[in-house]
Formats: sequence, structure tokens, C-alpha cells
Amino acid sequence: MTGSSRETLAMEMNQSAASVSFGKRNGCYVNRSVALLLGLLFVSATVATGLLVYYYAPQVRSEHDPLNLARTSVATERPMVPTTPMTTGGKDPATKIDVRLPRSVKPLHYLVKLQPLINGNFSILGYVEVEIEVVEATSNVTLHIADIVTKNETIKLAPSDQVQGPGLTIAKHSYDNERQFYVAELESELEVGKKYVLSMEFEGYLNDKLHGFYRSTYKAEDGSDRLIASTQFQPTDARRAFPCFDEPGMKATFEVYLGREQGMSSISNMPKFESIPIEGQPGWVWDHFNTSVPMSTYLVAFVISDFDHMNSTANDHVLFRVWARNAAIEQANYALTTGPDILSFFEDYFSVPFPLPKQDMIAIPDFSAGAMENWGLITYRETAMLYDPAVSSASNKQRVVVVVAHELAHQWFGNLVTPQWWTDLWLNEGFASFMEYLGVNHVSCSIKHSHNKDVKEFVTFRSPANFLFGRITTSFSILLWPCFLSLCVHVTFVSCDLLISRMAFVFALALLLCLAHSCFRPIALLRLRMIPGCRRSLAEPPQVSQSAAETLYCEVPGRERGRFKSPRSAKDTVCCQFPNFSLSFRKYQNAEQDDLWQYLTTAAHEDGTLPTDLSVKKIMDTWTLQMGYPVIKVTRSSDGTSATVTQERFLLVKNLNSTDTHDYKWWVPLSYTTETSPDFETTKPQRWMMDTEQELTISSLPAKDKWVIFNVQETGYYRVNYDAENWNLIIQQLKDNHESIHVINRAQIIDDVLSLARAGQVSYDTALSVNAYLGKEVEYVPWYSALNNLGYLENMFTRSSGYGNLKTYLLDLLIPLYESVGFDDNLNDPHLDQYKRVKALSWACNLGYQDCVDNSQNLFNTWVQNPSNTSLISPNLKSTVYCTGVAEGGEEEWNFAWQQYLGSNVATEKSKLLSAMGCTKEVWILSRYLDMAFTEGSGIRKQDASQVFAAVARNDVGRYLAWNYLRDQWEKIADYYGSGLFAIARIIKAATRAFNTKLELAELVLFKEEHAGQLGTATRAVDQAIERTENNINWMDNNYEVIMKWLEDNGYSSKLRSQ
Ligand SMILES: [Zn+2]
Repeated sequence: MTGSSRETLAMEMNQSAASVSFGKRNGCYVNRSVALLLGLLFVSATVATGLLVYYYAPQVRSEHDPLNLARTSVATERPMVPTTPMTTGGKDPATKIDVRLPRSVKPLHYLVKLQPLINGNFSILGYVEVEIEVVEATSNVTLHIADIVTKNETIKLAPSDQVQGPGLTIAKHSYDNERQFYVAELESELEVGKKYVLSMEFEGYLNDKLHGFYRSTYKAEDGSDRLIASTQFQPTDARRAFPCFDEPGMKATFEVYLGREQGMSSISNMPKFESIPIEGQPGWVWDHFNTSVPMSTYLVAFVISDFDHMNSTANDHVLFRVWARNAAIEQANYALTTGPDILSFFEDYFSVPFPLPKQDMIAIPDFSAGAMENWGLITYRETAMLYDPAVSSASNKQRVVVVVAHELAHQWFGNLVTPQWWTDLWLNEGFASFMEYLGVNHVSCSIKHSHNKDVKEFVTFRSPANFLFGRITTSFSILLWPCFLSLCVHVTFVSCDLLISRMAFVFALALLLCLAHSCFRPIALLRLRMIPGCRRSLAEPPQVSQSAAETLYCEVPGRERGRFKSPRSAKDTVCCQFPNFSLSFRKYQNAEQDDLWQYLTTAAHEDGTLPTDLSVKKIMDTWTLQMGYPVIKVTRSSDGTSATVTQERFLLVKNLNSTDTHDYKWWVPLSYTTETSPDFETTKPQRWMMDTEQELTISSLPAKDKWVIFNVQETGYYRVNYDAENWNLIIQQLKDNHESIHVINRAQIIDDVLSLARAGQVSYDTALSVNAYLGKEVEYVPWYSALNNLGYLENMFTRSSGYGNLKTYLLDLLIPLYESVGFDDNLNDPHLDQYKRVKALSWACNLGYQDCVDNSQNLFNTWVQNPSNTSLISPNLKSTVYCTGVAEGGEEEWNFAWQQYLGSNVATEKSKLLSAMGCTKEVWILSRYLDMAFTEGSGIRKQDASQVFAAVARNDVGRYLAWNYLRDQWEKIADYYGSGLFAIARIIKAATRAFNTKLELAELVLFKEEHAGQLGTATRAVDQAIERTENNINWMDNNYEVIMKWLEDNGYSSKLRSQ
């Protein structure tokens, strides 16, 4: 993970396992229960959602008066505070329970009234009415509830047309802990087709766990502590705010009332309709919001704050507002200009107007994920929405526009059209991740046009190689990592023209990852251009000059619009119909994967782009219903003129004990080019390899002294391995003239060969020889690919005696790059050059290259002398300079960084300083820092504790310290996070990332044994750490000596002579 969690998917991985322990109160009793699982939310059949429910029996008495819930005065302390420690037991995450609600009734409309006592005891006084329709005969009504005390005497079920009547007799209120169900059991059956209203009062709790309806704190400019209330409901936490049918498929309309104090303001999904004083409670007001469109519960949102806001009038029918702390509202300017622009662009592009009258975006000081696409009210972590040009870096700015575009795309994909169940989350994440590129491109191109100069900005690109492959090591982790789709994305700047040619690719990748959410339904690939005919009209550039092509691509959105208006024209292409599929057919509804395949097949058959006997499903099922992805092996004949192609599943590490006997085969689109007639532009597959073919032969290849390269521009989702001869030809070509191979294929070759070497399918002799040309490489993307992979070697070697050799080698590769980019940053340089500089400097300083260290240290020390000079260090270089400055300094420098951290009003700046403070070489300071990270009120937010921990664990000096801290302080850490197991998993991973010795493995196994029964779903993270450590040990056994020998043979030695 990059630590740049972008979205809320994380939450889905982390629902977990917690148990709840409540005390007794007012005659209520509470059950402890356990929750499970979670990552498995995505797995339909195997879903065992960990649920956390507790229940109360006899309930607090209170008069039913929905408009006056808070009759009791604001108490000072809540007598009983719910906690959700995860250390008290955990079920086997694989336990299968059916977590789905019965389908006998469906919700139509909610009236929700909530009055959170933000500045009181954090109680939430609540009232809910749900109108339901009976679909099948039933004598009970089941809905979700968690962390809520129901007032049973107020629970009433009455026919919709007799709401004022006495209602039906509820024989029993029952609660299903594990599934977080409340069940009203009736004496008689409900009438099918009839509508009823279920209503009740309840009491909730404004928690500090960053989920459900929770509180967030910040310091105002006058130094006072302020509290706000915000929500995070995806995937299953709406039920913590109010009882509801908390499944994405159960859409309804919502009418919301929020009770607030007069000095604050409230926002929700819809515009505020009226404000009414709360009777009997001076200073309190009900904000009443318009009824929403039909939507899923996880998209409902409320924020009550004293924040400032700014309006945009850019869009005439959508009121667009941005909200932030008063002191930070200026930093929302960038989001305020790009947001409406992107919104209008999407409206045009989809030909579907934004369905709500307003769109709010708000930066929340405490936020567990990156952003959440609640309909009409997008919530963000501050770093994902706020941008200060004087302080934040180019990548911070890009992150804002990418996340904003992504969340706005969700307003259609995900919000308007919603997955039926979490297994089909790809429907919203895939589309949003795809559409975000178009949104970003639009911003980029409009900048370019308005300035009439070559501003290559924000066009994004994800390399599958660097992105996904490196993360999936085994079938086990495949379950998890892809789920972080939107979280662990690296984006880099490339020029406008690349975007369009990459977007199909990106879509494929996004889809792949999304599909992989569904464990055991794995990696899917969909390249738009895999579907015959797509490539040409969408992405294939005419043979024009680079600059003309760039202009053309920047105009693509306009061309696309034209196509959408006549979607079934002869020129139409399958690929262009993806957005239409959802939007026109599933509006306000839910969709499943096969719906999309069917839609695409029909379209493809209609315009003849797919043979009538072939369906999209047939191709795609091999990618979506099997785990993993293939490596194809190309073995050329002795004269070179033909090649045998085989495929097998690629595994970074083969599990020798695996009992998996499935015959993995895919429909693989094969494209290739040759040295004799190199063509890196035609990416349309020359051949398809069917899933039934054991091997196929490609003929008409050149003689054996000329190379062939498969997977042109890496448009197919597979790796390629060659025979030794062909690898050598490629190595030679790279050395002689690397530019004759397309830059994307250079990145691909590097990533493939290093990954294949790591997997034991190619020797490191070959892999390291491929790298040998890098001294001449000036493009960012191949470097990115190389450094990402070499990071693993660096990580494995760092504590071994051979590290000196490896370091000499790495510096030898890097110094030419370092020299070419220079230490002095220039914000007017092309973005990729800026990125290249950031990468080169961070590696050079990290490897201790003296020039880099000296420059950084000097800059840092100058800053210490002039702390108010914020323009001293280029925003791009801050991470490296801060880290190096702290590492080379002592307590004084550390304390200086801490003061800067406390004093900064910019979240991205705080984040950089937090990571940098983990770079110190003073062990006691690191130790103190770890303590602070897990202590309430230390100045480090809970949302940032895992970042601090990871920074310490990344530091060679801090690595064991972090691991020991984790072992010693396990209970404390677990308590601190409550159910926030995503953070716990990150911490475990950070601590054990570089483990590669038998001793470390033994420690890990012991840790698991000692905490058996307490780990809850953190068990998964520990199991993964164990597996990773075993793999690393094997890797060291197999490769350490080989690499050492190669380094020695090639002159990279740090051996000392004895005389
Ligand atoms: Zn998303």
C-alpha cells in the first residue's frame, strides 16, 4: 500500500471482528458478541460478514414524541460508554453465516430524526419511521441495528393508511447478535402487497471510531477544541446511526431531520428545506431536509459542524459547495474550481444530468479512508480535498483532482446505479476508477487549452506491473490486495495523448481489480480493445504528429459525446457503451456482473464486432471466475521463424502444499511485434489464445537473431516470458538503442523480467542484465517500474552482509539519473520530470548518496534557522528533505519537526512531517514517537497512527523497535483502534514487511499462538505476514547467493581486503 488510501473500500476490509462489551444500565442487559470477518464481504457465497451486535432487552422508557426527542437536558457524561475492543475473542473468519436480510419486505421510504449531543455526552437521540412493502407472506420484520439502544415500548408497526391507529401487536422483539438484526415478531401475518410503517425511538452513540455517526475534533484558530459530527456508512455502518435495511440493493427515499445547536450548521444528501426551533430546548434547531431520490443506505450522510463554506455558481442547476475548517477553507479553492468543472463534464459526457439539486464536498479532520462518495455530500480526508499551492506538492494537487473526479463519477456509478451486493462492487469502483481518468483529463485539457501552452498535467496512468502484480503474491493475498483497488494506486503524470491510449487499459485494470474483490472470482481483465473493433475508434491514433495527436485526444470527450447520442450507429463500438449500460438501464436500480456481459454481447453482435457464436461472458468468465492471471511463455524454434506459445497461471510464489488442482486457462489476446518490422502502435491482438488450447504456434517470425516482443504496449493483462535467446536479443537491443522499443514495453519488460526472476522462472542473471541499460533511460515510467521491483531486493538485502554490494550497484544505476535531474527543483519542469526528480532524490538520499544527503541536510538546517520561510523547500522535495534532515539530526531537529507539525494548518504538510519524524536514528525518540501514536490527545490523530507506526518500521533503526512494540503493546493498540482492523492489518504488515529469517518467522508464529483468540480478523494479517516471511526466506535461500555472485562478477563489491 502506498498509504494513500483513497476511498472507503478499506472499510470493507475492516469491519470486523470486534466484540462489544457494554455494562449494565437501567435494567438493560447487553450481550457481548463477536464480529467477524470482513474482507469477505466481497465474497458472495462465502461471505461471512463479521457483525457486531449487542442487544438490550427491557428498554429505557420515554414518551414517543418524534419532534422533541431531546427533552432530557444535555447530560454531562454518558454513564456507559460503548467500546468495541477487538481483543476479546474472534471467530474463525471463514465461518459461514448468511448475513443477508430476508426478502419478504422491502423499504420504500425512511423518515430519520437524529439529535447528536456533540457538545454533551455524545448520545444520539433518534427516531425512525420506515415505510415498507410486503413482498412475501411473513409474520416478522427484520432490519439492521448496531450500537443502538431501542426503546421497545415505542416500536410500532401500522398499516400505511392507518398510521395513527393502534398498530399491529408485536409479540416479541428479538435480536440476532451476529448478524446485527432486530426482528419484530408479529402475532399475525402481514398482507402481501400492502404497505406498513415501522417506527421507533432509539438512542445511539456518537463514537470516536470513525465509522457510523462519529465525532471528529480539531483546534480552532483561537486554540479552542471543537467537535463536529460526521458519518461513514459504507459498507455496513448506517445501522450504527439508525435502524435500517442496510444492504446496497434495498434502496429507498430518505427524509432527514438533524437536531443541532444554533451556532452550528448541518448538511445532508439533500438541500435543507427548513429550520424549526426544537420546542422546549432553547438554542436547538431541527434542520429538515428535502426527501432524497431512491438510494442505498450506505450513501446516506450527515455532517453537523461549525465549518465555513464557499459556493460555486459554475453550474446553473447544481449548487456546488465546499466545506472545511474555517482556518483551512482557503485550501478548498482548488476543489471548488475543479469540482463543478468535472461535474459539468460528466453530465455532458453521460448525457445524464446530475440527479440532485446540490453537491457538497467537505474535508473532515478525522477520516479513516480517503473519501466517500455519499450522494450529494462527499466526505474527504483533508489531504484528499485541501490543497495549498504554497505548501503542497504536485502530487498532493494531483491527488485532490483524482479523488474529486473519482468521487464525482460515483455520483452516477455507484449512487445512481448500485451493485446488488458487495460482490459486484466493481460496478461502481470499476466505472468510477475508469471515469476518473476522463474527468482528470478534462481538467488537464481545459488547462491546456485555456493557457494555450503545453501544460501536461494530471493525465494519469497506472501501470499494472507496478501496481497490481507486485502486490499479489499468492492466491491467499489475492483475496485482499485487489480489494484495495482505489487505495493503492500510483498515479503519475503523462501527457494528454497517453491518456486516451491508456484509458482502455486503465479500465481493464480497474475492472480487474474490482472483480478481484470477490475472492475466488479474481482477476479479470477487460481491455476495451480486447473486444475487436473497439480499439480503432476509441483509442487508435491516426498517423499524425505527436502534438497533433495530443490535441486530438484532448478533444476526445467531445467526440465521445457525439457517439453517445447515437449509440447504435454503425460506427459505434462496444466499449463506448459501458457507461450507457449502467446509466440508461439501471438508473436508481441495482446491477450484477452478468447484466453487463449480456448488454455488451448484444451490442457487440449488433454492430458485428463479435462473432455471433462468441459471447463477452465466455471471454470474461475466464478472467472473472478464476483466480489470478497468466504468464505466457514464448519459445522460438531453432531457426527463430516460429514460436510455441503456452500459458500458465502466474504466481510470484508457488505454494508447494497447494491442493488446488484447477486447470487455469484464459482467453488471452496475443499481440506482438518484431525487430524486422517493429510496430508498437498496433495493439489489436493478432491472435486469441483460447482457454481450451494447451499451446499454439505463431509462424512468420523473423530469423533467430532478431527479437520478438509480445503484449504490445502491455495492453493485455498478462506477463510474458521468453526463451533465453530472445531475452538476450532484447537485452542487447536495450543496450544498443533502447528507444527502438516503446517506452511502455520497456517498463513492461523490466517489470516482467524482475517479477519472473522473483518467481524463479527466469534467472537473476537475466533480470539484472536487462536493467543494465537503465543508465541511459531518461523516461520516468521504466524507472518507476525498475525501482519498484528493486525495492524488494533492497528490502531483502538491507540487513545482510551483501547490502554493501547491492547499494553500490543501485547507486551506480541511479547516479546518472540523479545527476540528470539535479537537486534543485523547478515547478515549471514537465510533471514527469518533477516526478523523476522526486524518485531519484528519495532513492539517492535513502541509499546515503552524499551529495543528496548534504543538500537535504543543508536545506533542512536553513529551514530550522528560518522556520517561517515556507518557500525555502520545494513542496516536491519536502518528503525527502524532511526525512533526511531528521535522520541526520538529533533531538533538536526532531522537536523542530514536531513543532512544525503542530503549527501547520495544512494536512498534507502534517502528513509529510509525520512520516519524516519516523526517520530519526535516535532509538529513544522513535520509542517515544510510537507511544505518542497510540495515545489519545498526544497530537497525533487516530487516523494517522498507522502512518507513524509504518514510518518507524520502515526505518532500519526502528524496525525491531516497531515489531517489539507491536508485541508488547498489542492490547493497547487493539483497544485504541476498536474495530478498525484495517489499520491493525497495516500495522502488522509494516512491522513484518522485510522479515526474511527463520528467527523472525518463529517470532511471528509465537505471536500468533500467544494471541490466539484475541486477534479477531487481524488473524488474517498475521497469517499473511507468516506466509510472506516464509516466501522471503525461500527467496533468500534461492537467490541471495546468485545475486551476490552477479554483483561480484559485474564489479559491485564492497569486500574488504585483509591486507
Ligand atoms: Zn470509489
